[in-house]
Amino acid sequence: MRRRPDILFVMADDHAAHAIGAYGSRVNQTPHLDRLAAAGMRFDNCFCSNSICAPSRAAILTGTYNHVNGVTTLSAPFDSAQPTFPATLQAAGYQTAIFGKWHLGHGPGHDPVGFDEWRVLPEQGDYHDPEFLSAAGRERLLGYVTDIITDLSLDWISSRDPSRPFCVLVHHKAPHRSWEPDARHQGLYAGWEMREPVTLHDDYANRSTAASQAQMRMTDLEPEDVKEVPPGGLVGEELDSWLYQRFIKDYLRCVASIDDNMGRLLDFLDAEGLSENTVVVYTSDQGFFLGDHGWFDKRFMYEESLRMPLLVRYPREVPPASVCPELVLNVDFAQTLLDLADVDGPPRMQGRSMRGLLRGEPPKDWRRAVYYRYWEHDGGHGVWAHYGVRTERYKLIYYYNDGLGQPGASDAVFPPEWELFDLESDPYELRSVYDDPAYATVRDELTRELHRQQHEIGDRPHPTDSDSSAAVRRPPAQ
Ligand code: CA
Repeated sequence: MRRRPDILFVMADDHAAHAIGAYGSRVNQTPHLDRLAAAGMRFDNCFCSNSICAPSRAAILTGTYNHVNGVTTLSAPFDSAQPTFPATLQAAGYQTAIFGKWHLGHGPGHDPVGFDEWRVLPEQGDYHDPEFLSAAGRERLLGYVTDIITDLSLDWISSRDPSRPFCVLVHHKAPHRSWEPDARHQGLYAGWEMREPVTLHDDYANRSTAASQAQMRMTDLEPEDVKEVPPGGLVGEELDSWLYQRFIKDYLRCVASIDDNMGRLLDFLDAEGLSENTVVVYTSDQGFFLGDHGWFDKRFMYEESLRMPLLVRYPREVPPASVCPELVLNVDFAQTLLDLADVDGPPRMQGRSMRGLLRGEPPKDWRRAVYYRYWEHDGGHGVWAHYGVRTERYKLIYYYNDGLGQPGASDAVFPPEWELFDLESDPYELRSVYDDPAYATVRDELTRELHRQQHEIGDRPHPTDSDSSAAVRRPPAQ
């Protein structure tokens, strides 16, 4: 019988694909992540189903959408006894571990389940000399968090039982706000003028009210984020540009440490002779606005936030230097890893295995649209609740603008609005064409597809989305 693969799953927090060399970054270099991409597959259209930490983590672990796993918002509790891919692998004989960020709650019912060993940061954790929680209690480890998480992972792999396969989740805290680099990278980019994104000075015209109301502009950065007081007299675009430089440099310094530590992991696998039979995954829990649309943070269904980096190396099955353009979701990860391990996924899982895509053999019936829902209404950064679908070319978003009593959501309700973007003619999403008669057919097809997807996965349209009940009875869009 074929030896089952080992699995090294590395996930950063808030690492946008456009801050990775292999994804064409215009602001930084990531030689070790690029090395992974060169030896495996880069997914160019991997998306999250809800662009926020805990909900995306729950979707990844359970292979389900948030209305199923219960983690609709940051404040919604995660029942850690529900089926996950690590617990399923453990039951199938895998040695399993998680080190680093968990962010799905602590204590009975919420602590990690399905892991032989877990050492996780309390909530967001600290960058320097962080505390870790484990089954044995709480302890503080000295050093920089990205190095420590890597050290713990390498130590655990080294001490494993080599007769059985392993799956380790390496969950970095970085590069999450407030972007605190280590001493080694503190001076990186000093004196540099980082290239500004095209949409840094966005005026939010031609879009929903939600975009203009969000509180995640450069001027919403806190003093601890930029760590320096802006020169007096700076206002408007000049101030935004100054704040962008401060923010992006620390963000990229944190990324540089992740990249170095990715190199350590890859070197270790090579030295131990494990590279050939190990599935190595690099991803992030969601994307991030790197000054795009004048913002930091995520949450919106716009491209920079919606897109997740996804690199997968597995020499036994994945062609080197390959690129997959198909639409994949964080909800697909669990079944993909189980499939690669030849372990059946629990029937409750809602994603689809990407194994065919990884082999360079995309199934003919692969999905043509992905579904998204941001439940947390008017909570952090004042982003309003919305859902939508994205196809290869178009994106339809419905801002239903209602908290629906979700944990952490505001009671305020705002008038609903729609947006439609043609990503081919408007890749930066600066002009909604929802009311443009030339797009009426596209709009109607996407509206049907949105409601078809909701029906298929068992999510409910908002009551103000009046077309929805009729739409689910229609045939699906082609
Ligand atoms: Ca995150």
